Amino acid sequence: MPMSTDFEGRLTPILADIASHFGTPFHIYDEAGLKATGEQLITAFSGLAGFKEYFAVKALPNPRILEIMRKMGFGFDCSSIPELALSRKTGATGDEIMFSSNNTHAGEFAVAARNGGCILNLDDLSLIDKVPRMPELICFRYNPGERRTGNAIIGNPVESKYGLTHDQLPLAFDRARERGARRFGLHAMVASNERNYQYMVETARMLLDMVESIGRDRSIRFEFINIGGGLGIPYHPDDAPLDLGALSTEIKALFRAFEERNGYMPRLYMESGRYMAGPHGVLITRALNRKEIYRTYVGVDACMSALMRPGIYGAYHHITVPGKQAGGDTEIVDVVGSLCENNDKFAIQRELPRIVDGDLVCIHDTGAHGYSMGFNYNGRLRPQELLLHADGSVERIRRAETLSDYMATLFFPPDRLDANKLNRSAT
Ligand SMILES: *Cc1c(COP(=O)(O)O)cnc(C)c1O
Repeated sequence: MPMSTDFEGRLTPILADIASHFGTPFHIYDEAGLKATGEQLITAFSGLAGFKEYFAVKALPNPRILEIMRKMGFGFDCSSIPELALSRKTGATGDEIMFSSNNTHAGEFAVAARNGGCILNLDDLSLIDKVPRMPELICFRYNPGERRTGNAIIGNPVESKYGLTHDQLPLAFDRARERGARRFGLHAMVASNERNYQYMVETARMLLDMVESIGRDRSIRFEFINIGGGLGIPYHPDDAPLDLGALSTEIKALFRAFEERNGYMPRLYMESGRYMAGPHGVLITRALNRKEIYRTYVGVDACMSALMRPGIYGAYHHITVPGKQAGGDTEIVDVVGSLCENNDKFAIQRELPRIVDGDLVCIHDTGAHGYSMGFNYNGRLRPQELLLHADGSVERIRRAETLSDYMATLFFPPDRLDANKLNRSAT
């Protein structure tokens, strides 16, 4: 089921009050649900000492959410300076932060090294000599290329811009060791929104095989493997959920077999974003206009600035109309935002209860890669974010953008290079 029925049950009776107090649109997140999923992950992997989830900050980059994650003992997976800064605002430092950047700028390494540093997950051989000071603990991202065909969303690893090749990896650990690294980890992320748990089992097997062969030849005991994120969630009511129990059982068996052969066990790390947060957020928007042309359009007060996934991936997000049952009076509509861009649609030709102007519309599973992907095209502003606390209270955890936020980068001290100072000889 999309959106936990638990969350739906607690939200629906208070939704009208929340909407009239805070106004629409808004994303609202469910603290109790976030904690329940976090506890499920922890319990599933409790047999593996040192298991750690590094929550993928890009999925839901709000410090109030990150605090909830940190209280559960989670670290943070970051790939930019702003994400590092957000993570550090929660007090996280050192091994609690994994910096998995791609096409990294030297300035990013400098910031990553500050304030107690973090775990660097290097994405290329060429970056080893660009890290200003090699930390003691270093991780590399592995791209298995044709050894592994990816799923449809992430594509073929041969075409993927991430990670080092099979042949580059041993050289990378040797070079990092020459530069002073003493502790090592190996990372890969080869699936996205994958509900077949076998993908993650195979990722763990692949990484354990790699650290076994690389480690044996060099007498390295790897500190961890990181199987990345990519655990899928059921966006559609017909989707089967990922089998977390089977996932952890099979991964634990792989680790025990590794220990028998090698006399030690690396730790298991993962970086789930969607699995942790996706089902625990919804976008609440109000119906503004009904338009009957060749099709019926229900225009709502949110648009792609709040949720890009349907527009850019054609992704399915379940939609309900609180207080109206799916089995009642229904019709086929497109649910649309206000952009001058025809893919600004939350649903296309979807059978929904008949929606009238003023109805609240609930777009499910926006807790991950929802708000964070939003953009300002057409000058449309990003919405507020609310948190439904475990005690039943509701708090605004991000205000909506304002016109002055939109204007903020447009007015500043003038800076102009005069035409007669420009050297045109180079061309
Ligand atoms: C995006 C990303 C994640 C999170 O992916 P989910 O699908 O949200 O689990 C984790 N790690 C890395 C390196 C990523 O790029």
